[in-house]
Amino acid sequence: MIQTVRGTFDILPDELPRWRLVEETARAVFRCYGYREIRTPIFERTELFARSVGEETDIVAKEMYTFMDRSGESLSLRPESTASVVRAYIQHKMWTWGSVVKLFYIGPHFRYERPQKGRFRQFHQIGAEAIGQTDDPAIDAELIEMVEEYLERLGVRERVLFLNSVGCAQCRPAYVRRLKDALADAIPRMCENCRRRYEVNPLRILDCKVEDDQPLIERAPALVDHLCSACAAHFEALRRHLEARGIAYRIAPRLVRGLDYYTRTAFEITGARLGAQNAIAGGGRYDGLSELLGGPPAKGIGFALGVERLLLALPEEAAVADEAPDLYIAYLGAAARQHAFRLARRLRREGLIVLYDFEERRLRRLLAQADRVRARYAVLIGDEELAAGRYTLRDMRTGAQEALSEDALVQKLAASRSPAASASR
Ligand SMILES: [Zn+2]
Ligand SMILES: [Zn+2]
Repeated sequence: MIQTVRGTFDILPDELPRWRLVEETARAVFRCYGYREIRTPIFERTELFARSVGEETDIVAKEMYTFMDRSGESLSLRPESTASVVRAYIQHKMWTWGSVVKLFYIGPHFRYERPQKGRFRQFHQIGAEAIGQTDDPAIDAELIEMVEEYLERLGVRERVLFLNSVGCAQCRPAYVRRLKDALADAIPRMCENCRRRYEVNPLRILDCKVEDDQPLIERAPALVDHLCSACAAHFEALRRHLEARGIAYRIAPRLVRGLDYYTRTAFEITGARLGAQNAIAGGGRYDGLSELLGGPPAKGIGFALGVERLLLALPEEAAVADEAPDLYIAYLGAAARQHAFRLARRLRREGLIVLYDFEERRLRRLLAQADRVRARYAVLIGDEELAAGRYTLRDMRTGAQEALSEDALVQKLAASRSPAASASR
């Protein structure tokens, strides 16, 4: 028996309404903010991720699905999408589109991670990027507002927005030296990851979740206290913009993003329902990534969220689109069978969900079937109905029945579709 590969899963029809809900809500909300959808390839040249995400990061070093294609070129399944979107920005000269280009994406990503609750090797991300010539902190605030609106619309309440600035190439190196000095005595007693990071990427030590390391890290200096004047002004302005928008936040001095290319703004939104590892969405600024990828100077900020984790944070009752059929056609006899197919086609053209069975059944079994599939209405077509040119329409909720001509039946069913039900399909 061949089964799904470890860390991957089928999304079955019963689960899909919740997936569509988060995807369609993203499209609806992001559109209002002027973000437009982009679809980049599932695989890219390995070099793209090695250069942007960083060769020494866990993602590139251990977690990418990398393979040689038949021409001997090293390709990788995308582990994230910011690099791909910035690559597209450069490739399509999007700076000619306007001073700030706003894009969003929805789709599968791939990392060879140890599978655990809410973490998969094929996982799905929704994200957005604003790339352009300005790093105006109002762009950061607007993006954060958009993510907040999105989560609010989905009913993900009790959120906390954590905010930090990770500085820039001017001020971060000095801070990193300070951090290393402050941790120099403690580092031999810290976890293996911290010891490794101390050499390759000391900032990531702030990210350590190992309990014994926490008191040692708490004593380290905070990045926000050592920003250059430009970064400090940017951070101050962002805070004022958020306050003006009525968006509450907490400063999280230890919030650093996992990827090397982040600058200045870093943020994370957590949800109460997710427990310890409770980040729903995270993002930040990445000024300079375009240059790193061989493009023109450009500023950028973006966010991403994992759909699998978002679904865990979604309220149970989150509107699940009703896929119950509008009509179940119960037919008796060969002539009625042909008639049923024709009627079904006419109703489906009206956008109605119409079911029937291919095998003939007795009347009692037909009505039981209409019930089982949760049909709103059932119609009975037999020789008598054909002769009379009138069908018996049964309201499956009330049990009320009425005899209708075909035209009247089509009219009634088309009118019975609520606009909300149509929109969710
Ligand atoms: Zn700076
Ligand atoms: Zn540690």
